Amino acid sequence: MALNREWHRYHRMPPKATREQRIKWHAAHAAACGCRAVPESIRPDLERLLKRPRKR
Ligand SMILES: [Zn+2]
Repeated sequence: MALNREWHRYHRMPPKATREQRIKWHAAHAAACGCRAVPESIRPDLERLLKRPRKR
């Protein structure tokens, strides 16, 4: 998958992003763009976020 320029334009990673912010960024990024893989350090937390049941 190629880089999604539009998505990146509106989803900038904050310079001092917290771990939580980075996890959410990568969750959204993985769904919208494939320019880079999720870092190994983030992946376990990302999978946990995606598996977490959603309550309304
Ligand atoms: Zn990307």
